[in-house]
Amino acid sequence: MLKRVHASDTAPGFEAPSLPHGGRLVDRRLELDEAMDIAGAAPSIGLSGAEAADLRALATGAYSPLTGFMGSAEHEACVDTMRLPDGHLWPIPVCLGVPEGTRFRGDHVALRDAKGRLLGVMELHEVFRRDRTHEAERVFGTSDPAHPGVARVLDAPAMAVAGPVRAVVAPLDGLAGRYALTPAETRAEFAARGWRRIVGFQTRNPVHRAHEYLQRVALEICDGLLLHPLVGPTKEGDVPVEVRMRAYQAAIRHFPTDRVLLAALVAPMRYAGPREALLHALVRKNHGCTHFIVGRDQAGVGSYYGPFDAQRLIASLPPDELGITPLMFDKVFHCAACGGMASVKTCPHPERERVTLSGTKVRALLRSGELVPPELVRPEVADVLRGAYQRRNGDGPVVRAPARAPAPPAGTGHPGFVVWFTGLSGAGKSTVARALAARLVERGHPVELLDGDEVRTNLSRGLGFSREDRDANIARIGYVAGKLASHGVSVLVAAISPYRAARDQVRAMVDRFVEVHVATSLATCADRDVKGLYAKALAGQIPRFTGVSDPYEPPLAPELVLHTDGEPVSSSVEQVLRCLERLGLSAAVRPEPARRATASAGPGPADRRRSAT
Ligand SMILES: [Zn+2]
Repeated sequence: MLKRVHASDTAPGFEAPSLPHGGRLVDRRLELDEAMDIAGAAPSIGLSGAEAADLRALATGAYSPLTGFMGSAEHEACVDTMRLPDGHLWPIPVCLGVPEGTRFRGDHVALRDAKGRLLGVMELHEVFRRDRTHEAERVFGTSDPAHPGVARVLDAPAMAVAGPVRAVVAPLDGLAGRYALTPAETRAEFAARGWRRIVGFQTRNPVHRAHEYLQRVALEICDGLLLHPLVGPTKEGDVPVEVRMRAYQAAIRHFPTDRVLLAALVAPMRYAGPREALLHALVRKNHGCTHFIVGRDQAGVGSYYGPFDAQRLIASLPPDELGITPLMFDKVFHCAACGGMASVKTCPHPERERVTLSGTKVRALLRSGELVPPELVRPEVADVLRGAYQRRNGDGPVVRAPARAPAPPAGTGHPGFVVWFTGLSGAGKSTVARALAARLVERGHPVELLDGDEVRTNLSRGLGFSREDRDANIARIGYVAGKLASHGVSVLVAAISPYRAARDQVRAMVDRFVEVHVATSLATCADRDVKGLYAKALAGQIPRFTGVSDPYEPPLAPELVLHTDGEPVSSSVEQVLRCLERLGLSAAVRPEPARRATASAGPGPADRRRSAT
């Protein structure tokens, strides 16, 4: 038998299983009840979104060999030498700031999010002051507060608290949450697929054809591609994460499914250019990658860094200390004379033949509602982006609704949209929709609620429960909802809508369609059985009952999944509101409360109950 020889059999560089940075994958996870026991009456620190993302990266080993927030010795070594005190490369400080005057007692602190939910615990080893201006100049190469990463450092408190952490790594909401794999999980997946050379691709933008070209070229000498978007807090104006994830889903359909793994990296973006490109390489090494793509102006922002600064820094490091093979690329463009993608290394033609694929240019086209040339962006990806680009104030790239959508009616200030709640009977769709309606009215939205049961007695009288009749029912609801939304109404639909194809047809008709899967388990729905229907269905008295004797097809990529089992309605409503805010469809009336809770006597009983849900 002939053994096929792959390019990767002879390709240079590291091979799986690649050693994590520092030699061992750090695992600092713990269960919530254990965290609550340790947190006990310990003082609490409120974490910003970026700090919470860092905590998760520490606990899952993405930041191996770090085991906690940095103390003064680690901070100083990292800032001045780009290394940890033990000599390992580490380019960017990971610190936890606390407000001036915070007093601590005991040997632990409880780490909480802005809502007071317990995220983890930290052993209290040290409280120290960091010189933030010096840190910015060394790490970012500038202390200009207009640099978004520098601004975050300068805005952080000077006082920092340090020590080893342990954190509850709970599932995250939304599409990105479903793709958030730990380093142990990506490593297991690579092993299961038999990949020996794995190239990691960092991104915080939608994937355009230039990125795809780099991925293809790298994949020619590797076995697998980890498409690894960063989904932690990014700067104002970056494309919202749910939109990006849908665009990535569309983009990877152009690769063989067994050659690409899409996963989300929960970590904050710092825009530190060269130093951050190095951090990104080390984090991918921890996830099991053997190769890493370093493009032009990797991890940069504005014009703070030269196009090859990141590549130069990484190339200057000893390969065995780096532990991952960098693949460096120059500018990529579409060349009409070459008839495809090319770079200055492969194309001999003059500038006039070339179309450069800058993200800014693509955003401008999408914003103006013009067609994006398929040489720049795959049409499927452009569709996702265009469908999600919404009217938004300011100069951010996410601005305008698609050309065919009319502007919101004067006076309302809101574009219309459809939130489509799908799920089993008794899942809580109508309950959440009614509560959401009240909140949206408070925010000034004109709201219309279309409840499946009511619609059936009016709009769809006479329709039964065959697949054809169910599809007709959904198509009618979708038609009405789309009409209302086009006139600026926020339409909430609560309908079982068991068939995926019918829902997707509505999605295709409606410009701003937000699918919310109310994923309450069949057991819980049957338990609730508010109308006594499950008892009858299980007794065989109701034919074609969804979930019992008729199928339910859950959405593959809904904008939001709600797990209402044991969750208060208010929590479900908050999740939908956050989702609408992320998509730019609704804005909170009042600003969020201040992010930092000062150290206090620890959580009261009410806080502890909330943490447990
Ligand atoms: Zn050319």
